[in-house]
Amino acid sequence: MSWVRRGAVVLVPLVLSGCVALGGSGGDGPGPGGGEFVVTYEEPDDPDLRSVAAEVADGGVVEEAVEGLNDFVVLPVDVPVVVRSCTDGALYDPAEREIQVCLEDVVETRELLEDADDAAATERGILVDTVDHEAGHALLDVYEMEFTGREEDVADQFSALVGVRGGDQGLDDLEAAAYGYELSAAAYEADPTDEHASDTQRAVTYQCYVYGSEERDAEHLVDEDGLTERRAESCWEEWGDLREGWMRLLRRADALR
Ligand SMILES: [Zn+2]
Repeated sequence: MSWVRRGAVVLVPLVLSGCVALGGSGGDGPGPGGGEFVVTYEEPDDPDLRSVAAEVADGGVVEEAVEGLNDFVVLPVDVPVVVRSCTDGALYDPAEREIQVCLEDVVETRELLEDADDAAATERGILVDTVDHEAGHALLDVYEMEFTGREEDVADQFSALVGVRGGDQGLDDLEAAAYGYELSAAAYEADPTDEHASDTQRAVTYQCYVYGSEERDAEHLVDEDGLTERRAESCWEEWGDLREGWMRLLRRADALR
């Protein structure tokens, strides 16, 4: 996540999944497979954040997301997923070959969800999406994958692929992340310098993938303000392109478990 409050009134968008850090790739490129994503916690100095860290660890959601990833893909090197205090937002750092998840973002998410329905499920979906999105950046980097399109969209697409593969829970998480983006779009003003699609676009795109995957009855996602009937008609194709595109990248890199 990479959101910064600028004063009390004007808020930049809540970027539920952050971006890739600038900087070149570390290491010497892909070596023999066998690496995996590995969750670690860095103890924050702030006692409040220490209890948030303990709650995140107890919840086990990051661990569950990472387990799902490791069942699906293999890496040339271990990539730590570090839960820590950080104000620069969730990101994948190619120099360190490391994903960070910020406790401050969890706190902000809870503030956003204060009056929301299904706050716990939504917090969970947002956290899973954050890990999966950054894992998408990590895969593109460690395998030096050649992809087309905007990297942020490709990382979102990886998150959607993992969600749809994850059965009912994965689909619930993806729908929850979309709901989080809807709330965030309503609560925060769009930041024109953000390299991601807008939160509204990200919400609708995730809903489109769930709908298009035809893994569940998703008619409830179609409405005139979000995923319109017209867009929904093309979701089957959008989902198919995503799945084929990412599976091709993963097969070429020999990254499938
Ligand atoms: Zn990103």
